[in-house]
Amino acid sequence: MDKNCIFCKIIAGEIPSQKVYEDESMLVFKDIQPQAKVHLLCVPKSHFATLAEMNEEQAELVKKCFIKIPSIAREQGLDSGYRVIINQGADAGQTVFHLHIHILGGQPMGEKML
Ligand code: AMP
Ligand code: ZN
Repeated sequence: MDKNCIFCKIIAGEIPSQKVYEDESMLVFKDIQPQAKVHLLCVPKSHFATLAEMNEEQAELVKKCFIKIPSIAREQGLDSGYRVIINQGADAGQTVFHLHIHILGGQPMGEKML
């Protein structure tokens, strides 16, 4: 827990969020400024900013996130596909320095970004 981190505060329940799924490893909630019809954030329950700072234990949490994401996508009706993005640092537009996985879908995602 980083007391200055907004996602740690959301995990701790100090800041409200629209929760979609939670277990001991991760919290999944709706992005406050959705970039697609469905825009979720999957946040591992350990504070680290980027993949470069991730230790083995944290990598296990991220693995669990990736294993869970397909069933969350199914529950959200993302049957025709979705995009998964992890921004790393300033050039990628990372604004919250607690690693998180964007899940975007519910519409064709366009071809420009990737
Ligand atoms: P990134 O730019 O990859 O760091 O993504 C950060 C994301 O967090 C952005 O899409 C924001 O809209 C989202 N965000 C910031 N604060 C909140 C919040 N309190 N609840 C939900 N999403 C948030
Ligand atoms: Zn944090």
